[in-house]
Amino acid sequence: MIRKTLWISLLFVVCLISGCFTNPITGRDELMLVSEQQDFEIGRRYAPEIETQMGGRVPSPALQNYVDSVGQKVAGVSHWPDLGYHFVALDHESMNAFALPGGYIFVTRGMLEKLDSEAQLAAILAHETAHVVARDTAAAMSRDIGISLVLSAVTSEETSGTVLTVADVTNQILGLSYSREDEKTADLAGLDYMVAAGYNPNAMVETMKMLNDENDFRPIEFFSTHPNPENRIAYLEEKILLNYFQPERLKSGKEDYKNYVLDELD
Ligand SMILES: [Zn+2]
Repeated sequence: MIRKTLWISLLFVVCLISGCFTNPITGRDELMLVSEQQDFEIGRRYAPEIETQMGGRVPSPALQNYVDSVGQKVAGVSHWPDLGYHFVALDHESMNAFALPGGYIFVTRGMLEKLDSEAQLAAILAHETAHVVARDTAAAMSRDIGISLVLSAVTSEETSGTVLTVADVTNQILGLSYSREDEKTADLAGLDYMVAAGYNPNAMVETMKMLNDENDFRPIEFFSTHPNPENRIAYLEEKILLNYFQPERLKSGKEDYKNYVLDELD
C-alpha cells in the first residue's frame, strides 16, 4: 500500500515536470516524454523516409484513395477521430503494416495481396489506428531510441561525426516493437473501431488466422511481439461473441476489395 502511494506520488511529480498522457483507450495515466506537437513533427519528418525505404507508394491513385477511405472510416470512429490521418499503401513485397506518431499509417503491397476483403483491410488499419490513438509508437521511440535522437536526426548532407541521420533513425523505427499488453489493447480497440465503422469483426479473426498460417511471415509490426496467435484469436472470438450481435450482418466488402486493390495490383 505504501509502495503504491509512493509510486502514485512519484508519477504525479514526474507528470508535473515532464507531462503525462491519459490513454483514451484504457483510461490510464501514462508517463509520456513526447508532446502531441512532437508526435506530428516526428510523423512529418519520418513518413517521407519510410516511403523511400519501403519502395515508395503503390502507383495507383484508385488503390491509394480506396485504402485511405477505408482507413478514414475506422479512424473517424476511434478515440481520436480528428487527428488528421494519412493511410498509404507502400510498394514493398514484405507483409506488413505499421504506424508513425501523428497518424501516418502504412500497409505494404505484400500485405494487401494476402487479404481478400475490405473488412480485413479495415481490421489491419484499425489495429494500427489504435496504436496511434494510444501513442504507442511515440512511447516505444522514447524507450528504445531516445526521443532526443529522434528529434535531432539530420539529413545525410548535414551529417557529421556521430549524429544519426533520418535514414538511420528510420531503420530503428522500422524495428520497434510494442509490449504484448499494448498489442492486445490495439487488437480489442481495433475490433471496436471496425464494428463502429460497419465492418464484420470476424474479418480480424480471419486475418489473424491467415497471417498465422504464413510460414515465412516475420513482420516488423502486427505479429512481432504479439501474444501467441492462439491466445490472440481466442480473446478476439470471445469479445465478438460477448459484445456484438449478429456480426455477420456487417460489411465484408470482397467485391470492392477485388476491384480496387487486387485488380489494381495485378
Ligand atoms: Zn500492433
